[in-house]
Amino acid sequence: MVDARQSVGTTASPLRIGLVGIGKIARDQHLPSIADIPEISLRAAASRSMPAGDPLIRYPTLQAMLEGEPDLDAVSLCTPPQGRFDQAMLALAAGKHLMIEKPPGATVREVELLAEEADRRGVTLFATWHSREAAGVATAREWLADKAIHRVSIRWKEDIRVWHPGQDWILEPGGLGVFDPGINALSILTRILPQPVRVEAARLYFPANRFAPIAARLALRSGDTPVDADFDFLQTGPQSWDMMVTTDAGDLTLSMGGSVLRIGDGAEQHAPDHEYRRLYRRFAELVHTGASDVDLSPIKLVADAFLLGERRSAEPFEF
Ligand code: NAP
Repeated sequence: MVDARQSVGTTASPLRIGLVGIGKIARDQHLPSIADIPEISLRAAASRSMPAGDPLIRYPTLQAMLEGEPDLDAVSLCTPPQGRFDQAMLALAAGKHLMIEKPPGATVREVELLAEEADRRGVTLFATWHSREAAGVATAREWLADKAIHRVSIRWKEDIRVWHPGQDWILEPGGLGVFDPGINALSILTRILPQPVRVEAARLYFPANRFAPIAARLALRSGDTPVDADFDFLQTGPQSWDMMVTTDAGDLTLSMGGSVLRIGDGAEQHAPDHEYRRLYRRFAELVHTGASDVDLSPIKLVADAFLLGERRSAEPFEF
């Protein structure tokens, strides 16, 4: 007998998917990427603010979408991390394969429980790290595999008012504050370095009127290699999403969030942004092969920075 999941997620039989949370990232990336790849077929979307007459957004909640679209194979959650656990459990309980945005949860434990639940129900859970799909990351990982790595420096500095206007959830408990972008750097770091990474020290800057840090400095270590990270959410002017790796064979630099790679004195390597197309292709492949992909290492580093970090006060913050 052919396992039913073996037939979906292919060009011939696309994965029928429902999207939840039609906000910034759903509109900027999920919708156009799904439309571009034949392995995924978008059937419906659920949004608390249902725009009248929208052919796609026909449900106010995930529950209503699951009831109205019993043929869905999978659900993709594009909502903020707080509250996503209950949505994820609902989708898994309905027997749906599940893809979730980064960070995969508001706590580490809830993501472990989701992975156990997916396993128990025999469905796929894909906890995505979109920055790992940036154009330069795979080559960086391959190049670094046999190098002696002396040091890594990360500068992840962006303007919260430009990139996350009005997104109060980011500065609420569980929103991670500056680690919302910073965890992208940590997801790349943990992908490209051959040795596991751990936090040695951290300093977190909390605005007096908010619950999550607006800046952070981390000292990490990977084997013998020191890694320093500087995360800032108040960067005006030029923005930086850069990582420099110093090795016995010269420097490797990933910039623009991993999309631009430079090795030694070589030319910068640029490639188009296909992060979310790659994520959805990978999701289809995971479903097709009956696997899950849940790597908690980036969120564990963030949790450890909160556990170990010195807390400092910063100016009150308003958008
Ligand atoms: P967002 O626009 O503020 O929120 C996404 C959508 O989630 C909202 O439009 C809303 O959709 C739903 N939502 C918001 N608060 C909710 C709540 N309390 N309960 C239930 N639904 C809620 O956020 P976003 O920037 O798209 O980010 C969403 C996730 O994607 C986050 O985990 C973020 O880290 C990740 N991400 C964001 C970016 C980025 O550049 N913004 C990039 C990569 C990944 P409805 O009104 O349709 O229900």
